[in-house]
Amino acid sequence: MKTLGALPVAGTAAASAGCASPPAAAAGRDVIAELGVTKIINAAGTYTALTASKMRPETMAAIVQARESYCDLNELHDAVGKRIAKLVKAEAAMVSAGCASALTLATAACVAGKDPEKIRMIPNTEGMKDEAIIQKSHRLGYDHAIRNAGVKLIEVETRAELDAAINEKTALMVFMNTRDLDGEIHHEEFVEVAKAAGVPTLIDAAADVPPVENLWRFTEMGFDLVAFSGGKGLRGPQSAGLLLGPNELIEAARLNNVPNGDTVCRSNKVNKEELVGMLVALELYLDQDHDAIWADWEARCATIAEAATAVDGVESEVFVPEIANAVPHLRLTWDYDAKGLRPEEAAQQLRDGEPSIAVRPGSQGANALEIGVWMMDDGDDAVVARRVAEVLSA
Ligand SMILES: *Cc1c(COP(=O)(O)O)cnc(C)c1O
Repeated sequence: MKTLGALPVAGTAAASAGCASPPAAAAGRDVIAELGVTKIINAAGTYTALTASKMRPETMAAIVQARESYCDLNELHDAVGKRIAKLVKAEAAMVSAGCASALTLATAACVAGKDPEKIRMIPNTEGMKDEAIIQKSHRLGYDHAIRNAGVKLIEVETRAELDAAINEKTALMVFMNTRDLDGEIHHEEFVEVAKAAGVPTLIDAAADVPPVENLWRFTEMGFDLVAFSGGKGLRGPQSAGLLLGPNELIEAARLNNVPNGDTVCRSNKVNKEELVGMLVALELYLDQDHDAIWADWEARCATIAEAATAVDGVESEVFVPEIANAVPHLRLTWDYDAKGLRPEEAAQQLRDGEPSIAVRPGSQGANALEIGVWMMDDGDDAVVARRVAEVLSA
């Protein structure tokens, strides 16, 4: 690399000529429209199935710029990780292929560590610590990413069961933050038990930004490994996530990852685009005026609530989920029998209408029409307000 860097300017220009930027016209193609794929107003939130979030133009610009240069992928990984660690007050950090991959990497770090033979073997964990303890109420689909590293999930419900479950095969203890209210053992006690036993802890905090403080809150609580989605509230690339932790474990996670070929997470590639995009998105997120953005979300809720409640019998309420996606959402209710319209039917009409609008999937039997405003574009709130009023008054 040093030799290449010393090449005369003319030589460098000649070398890059064969790999010039694509023609401007290509950059402007609207492939989603070309293919006839329906564009949707996102009145739901950071749902992967709806493409979740939009990167900021500054993030996209940095990705386009990164495209211009080859570099050593590990060197860039190191530099980005160092910068991110500093920003989020962690000892070390890395960019993963989404939060799900961060969960696999964290588990692999605890099971195989830096041992080349073990790294090669997993998900076959013969001769390794391969039990991950988790509260039964914390089991959810995303724990598949933990199982991918070859561990067996050991379910516990009470403190006594947790104490009894820890043994010489325990590789780590896992906490799914979104399920905290459902479990008997909460953050502090969970970490305390793990520390006393010398077992590393992992917390899945995928959808727990905002608030911004959560980026360091779990590390400060004593969790060893903390995983976030890059493409939810942080608005980085959809294919990016963050794993924070101590140097030893992050170094181990890196060894279980791309560009190393014979590893469990070689199938979860991140390249310079995700690395650069994630870093820039995080910097922009930290720099933004969080209060002003919160006020804007509340204003969007108010716009839609005003139009909806102008319809006879419709009531509105703004709510902020206690954990995960903790931002203002709008809940609309009415007498479903009297109107002959159920919330899920109203949601379907909005989705089938013009323009197509996706509202929040009825989570936890909400029995209401729930609208997430935080991933909308400017002006979407007025369109949603009009369409919601139309559907509810029909
Ligand atoms: C979204 C989510 C994930 C997966 O995150 P990706 O960044 O999409 O991989 C994992 N756990 C929870 C709780 C989530 O909400």
